[in-house]
Amino acid sequence: MAVLRFYNTLTRKLEKFVPLNPEKVTLYTCGPTVYDYAHIGNLRAYTFADTLKRTLRYVGYPVYHVMNTTDVGQLESDADLGEDKIMIGVRRAAERGEQVTAWDIARLYTEKFIADRTAMNILPPDKLTPATEHVPQMIELIKTLEAKGFAYKTSQAVYFDVSKFPTYTELSRQKLEQLREGVREEVVVDSEKRNPADFRLWQLDQPNHAMLWDSPWGKGFPGWHLECSAMAMTYLGETIDIHTGGVDHIPVHHTNEIAQSEAATGKKFVSYWLHNEFIRVDNVKMSKSKNNFYSLNDVVQRGYSPMDLRYLYLEAQYRFPQNFTWQALTGASSARKNLLEQFAIVQYFVAEKEPMDVAEHPLRKKFASFLADDLNIPGALSIVWEVVKEASLTGIEKYSLLLDFDKVLGLKLAEVPTFGSFFSLEEQQGIRQLLIDRENAKKNKDWAVADELRDRLTQQSVRIVDTPEGPVPLVEEKTMV
Ligand code: AMP
Ligand code: ZN
Repeated sequence: MAVLRFYNTLTRKLEKFVPLNPEKVTLYTCGPTVYDYAHIGNLRAYTFADTLKRTLRYVGYPVYHVMNTTDVGQLESDADLGEDKIMIGVRRAAERGEQVTAWDIARLYTEKFIADRTAMNILPPDKLTPATEHVPQMIELIKTLEAKGFAYKTSQAVYFDVSKFPTYTELSRQKLEQLREGVREEVVVDSEKRNPADFRLWQLDQPNHAMLWDSPWGKGFPGWHLECSAMAMTYLGETIDIHTGGVDHIPVHHTNEIAQSEAATGKKFVSYWLHNEFIRVDNVKMSKSKNNFYSLNDVVQRGYSPMDLRYLYLEAQYRFPQNFTWQALTGASSARKNLLEQFAIVQYFVAEKEPMDVAEHPLRKKFASFLADDLNIPGALSIVWEVVKEASLTGIEKYSLLLDFDKVLGLKLAEVPTFGSFFSLEEQQGIRQLLIDRENAKKNKDWAVADELRDRLTQQSVRIVDTPEGPVPLVEEKTMV
């Protein structure tokens, strides 16, 4: 098995990846809060997790991947006793004249998330699991924490006592005194809280909340951080190999996940923490007030394919901030279309042959070595273009290598329509004849006839690309992914 190296946020080092069980690598990714569309920043986080999972599989590890959806109405911040997020979705729907429940909102935006994920060819997790279906597991976890002396109750909530967990700031490397809750003045603070960084395991005293469950501490709902620990441990065991998320989750969410999981089990929660850097838009942070808060719908409405956004994300290594501009997306779009076209040409010449085994090919090794180096996808992408341009490779070599690389890149090369699969035999014959006629017309410098024949081909969804090996009829772009 190829050696992979990942930058582990926990140790701040590039480390060799050694799974607990090479027969089943366990991977957990924090999923969306389903009260609104995912924005393009979130989609970077999921694309990153996707390329990671594909890479693990590419080098031979079976992977089991779990992702949650936060469908419990979580409060806007850990210190904020204001409106919960799912209710924000309900209120916005009401403003549009739609009467919906919190559960409708969660269901609707889970569906939207799945649609975005599918459109960007992000593989589904093996388990996509809603928080609301795991409240009993969360209650059990709090009971364990309480029994071990890590949790205490106030009149408002049950909290995790961070002072009882000495390695609380190991992941974030912050000083405990620096951790201050509540950045906004109107935040209501629980005066019975022991330490500012103590976080809610169970929220009480919120009678207007739409989703409430009975518990040993009273009616309420679970804290956000708790759900990931409960679901990760339910499906992946007490210690998991890799946990992913964006860098914003390092100081609070993942720090709290570690604290409550390790306090409960006494075992290491996660071996490798991998965090993606942020997407910025025109070099500023995305925010609703700046009107630069784009969803995949915005991308599509401007005439791009969701796959263009995927290509753009492949152009940056996950640990570097990436700047989103429409110009950059235009560049990614034309590069992607060019790649599909180059692949279609290669595919035309190999004419339905089975791909060859490229396991030992030197260019595959080069491609894999970029992946092994902390998931250097842009480096791997450069090998794709090397294959396209390398004159010494045979058609079948190019075809096989590109299809093989696409297992990681997910650019849907295998779905580029082949001439043979798109047209009936009779149509193919007709098109070939038109091509021959056009070549003859060109030879005779009969340009008007040549142009007319080209137009007739275009009407049949065929675009001709002239290559050194002769004219290639391609299935028109609009029929491509
Ligand atoms: P949330 O729904 O806020 O938990 O976000 C879902 C995922 O997207 C998390 O892993 C976040 O860290 C990540 N994320 C949020 N904003 C951005 C951004 N601008 N760029 C990249 N990732 C982000
Ligand atoms: Zn999480």
